[in-house]
Amino acid sequence: MNNKFESITRDLAKETLNKEVVLDSAYIDGNWEVIESSSISHNGIDKHALYDPSTGDVIATTRLCTKAHVDAAANAASQAILSWSQTTVSERASYLNAIADAMEQKFNQLVGLSVLNNGKPIAEAKMDADDAIACYRYYANLIAAQTTWTEVSTDESSVRLLKTFAPVGICALIVPWNFPMVTTSWKLAAALAAGCTVILKPSEVTLLPELLLGNILSAIGLPKGVVNILPGAAEVGAAMTSHPLIDKVSFTGSNGVGEKVMAQAAKDVKDISLELGGKSAIVIRADADLDMACDIISGGIFTNAGQMCSATSRLLVHHDIADALYQKLKEYTQNIHISAGFDPNTQMGPLVSQQQLNQVHKYFNIATEEKLDCLIGGQILDRSGYFASPTIYTNVPMDSCLWTEEIFGPVLVSRTFKDDAEAIQLANNSKFGLAATVVSADEKAALEMVLQIKAGHLWINEQQILFAQAGWGGFKQSGIGRELGEDGLSAYQKSKHVILPSQ
Ligand code: NAD
Repeated sequence: MNNKFESITRDLAKETLNKEVVLDSAYIDGNWEVIESSSISHNGIDKHALYDPSTGDVIATTRLCTKAHVDAAANAASQAILSWSQTTVSERASYLNAIADAMEQKFNQLVGLSVLNNGKPIAEAKMDADDAIACYRYYANLIAAQTTWTEVSTDESSVRLLKTFAPVGICALIVPWNFPMVTTSWKLAAALAAGCTVILKPSEVTLLPELLLGNILSAIGLPKGVVNILPGAAEVGAAMTSHPLIDKVSFTGSNGVGEKVMAQAAKDVKDISLELGGKSAIVIRADADLDMACDIISGGIFTNAGQMCSATSRLLVHHDIADALYQKLKEYTQNIHISAGFDPNTQMGPLVSQQQLNQVHKYFNIATEEKLDCLIGGQILDRSGYFASPTIYTNVPMDSCLWTEEIFGPVLVSRTFKDDAEAIQLANNSKFGLAATVVSADEKAALEMVLQIKAGHLWINEQQILFAQAGWGGFKQSGIGRELGEDGLSAYQKSKHVILPSQ
């Protein structure tokens, strides 16, 4: 744990960027290889710009990889797997612990780069770094405890049945921009623990934390080619997911791209995990404590400026308490301190990019056209940077796209319900099924309710806390498979069974 909160400043982040981050390069086969030219153009030069979301200023420009880099990285990973897959579980556990140790040493730098590049408040970026470190340690412990052979009991006494695990192979890991360090750790820690080698493609929007990770992997002496990091955009992701040397694709991102990834990976019948979007419900029962409800509602939609796959962006309120709750929620929301991530008082930062701001603006305009009841917000803030107001619409019709689509911003839509049955029916009325929250004084009733809600992660009277031990993933169009927990390791291993005579 690192408590040097006040030492995480914009100056520190800029110094880290200038002195430690290797730009214009890809991390392939244990070396930073200079990218000679890329297909991306920024203001007429073949550079890709990274922005400070709190000002809209360019903080760095860099070159992005091309398909040729994917070939080089895939070749390096296919060489490296020959020895990496043969390492012992304790060797792999010690590398994972070394990554966690090195991340702790670079904690302030990682957090600073995340705030600078992503815009999130320091407190949230710090939580991300803590979660990522915990994830590397969790998989170190989990793999260290895995034995080579397990005997499976059968009803046949003349033979023995043994089970073992093998790494799935060379993995393409593709991550989004909303939780850069966290999403990467969920995939990378489990893949390395399993004995896989990888090509990691960070989001082109938030490259900086993962570029620093390349230095960390180099510093701890991870064997060459085990992890290759390609700063790249869609073209690189597409080349990875359709590359003949890749055995598995693990993708986190939007449904539109997820569908393409699934089609791209279908060609060679690659193993696939997809973590996609959500439009999760938060149910406030009539017996709920209203202050607790406001805290949890606010955390579920305004954390990371609503840019969370698990955002509980559909609020369902029992009609008996709706007026009182809306009044209190309005007061809560009015008091949210909106500012740059480096301001230690910030409770909500900017959106990540101009594109994301435009996306939220589009929904504000639709809400105006549809004459939705706006409890608070509904505006792009008149200041530099990508700031939108925390926004709540009430009585939103179920055929409004604000009710059905993932907005990925600080926009909450709400409806009332009469009884638990209607609340469950409304909660399940979505093509997604990632998460849900229930707030109630009656734990038994809340547990009954979560049994009926089709979602992978459920909270009762709690904020959205995650544990490395708890598998993460959804139902319906929220994705395929699970990350984290034992399920997360299974995603990178294949079981093998051996039958032999009894001794
Ligand atoms: P995105 O789909 O635009 O991009 C995700 C990644 O895919 C990026 O690295 C991008 O470069 C890459 N990519 C783009 N086109 C590609 C292609 N054709 N082939 C392969 N890769 C390609 O998503 P985003 O805007 O970065 O992130 C937001 C989305 O991610 C939201 O929909 C959110 O719900 C989802 N998300 C889901 C989870 C989860 O656990 N379910 C977690 C975080 C984010």
